[in-house]
Amino acid sequence: MLLEVEDLCVNYGHIEAIRHISFSVEEGQVVSLIGANGAGKTTTLKTISGLRTVREGRVVFEGRDITKVPAYERVALRLSQAPEGRGVFVGMSVRENLDMGAYVRTDRKTSAYREDLERVFSLFPRLAEREKQVAGTMSGGEQQMLAIGRALMARPRLLLLDEPSMGLAPKLIQQIFAIIKEINEQGTTVLVVEQNAAQALKLADRAHILETGEIVRSGTGAELAGDEAVKAAYLGGD
Ligand code: ATP
Repeated sequence: MLLEVEDLCVNYGHIEAIRHISFSVEEGQVVSLIGANGAGKTTTLKTISGLRTVREGRVVFEGRDITKVPAYERVALRLSQAPEGRGVFVGMSVRENLDMGAYVRTDRKTSAYREDLERVFSLFPRLAEREKQVAGTMSGGEQQMLAIGRALMARPRLLLLDEPSMGLAPKLIQQIFAIIKEINEQGTTVLVVEQNAAQALKLADRAHILETGEIVRSGTGAELAGDEAVKAAYLGGD
């Protein structure tokens, strides 16, 4: 297992944002977490990337308990997150943002770094065209691509994506999911949190449904997409 989340409980003060969540991610998989607003999806991802502290439970990455490892060290372990709401450095150029993604790497002057930059540019040709543009002046979709590209520059073994389709036009949503599939096929394991259940289930090897801080259903993407209760609640009943 690449990632094991065991019996995780996270609070904001007395609010129990997530309660006794357990799931795992195998190397090579795409795993999706689906749920409505406030279900605890972002909290789960932030806890895995080290931005929230755990009240109870463990996060194990490549067999190592990282529950207390600080976020910046987790990036160096090659676990990296593209945050919700994009979170790019708006005053920096596209290229500077990508360089920031590689900040923890020690091989920035080598061909490996250049190769990764080329890989990001081939996944997102728009970023290559806009290399010198200030990130804050890019469109929402372009900033989303940049956030994913920046996370990829850390060469993650596990890429965490928080609502990559949020705020995007339908055509761009298709495109972002196709790119996530390609990233996975190139060898990066992906854990994606989404409100767009239809797309996220289509992509997923395994998926879990979160409701008010708990996992209420798990299965393969196809199993959940075919489940009547899931269809009624998350797929518009069709
Ligand atoms: P969304 O899709 O709306 O982002 P989510 O599934 O990602 O929702 P979380 O953001 O993880 O949900 O929130 C889970 C619960 O924790 C919610 O009830 C939310 O109000 C609460 N919560 C999140 N962040 C904080 C915070 N900083 N302080 C207090 N409560 C918080």
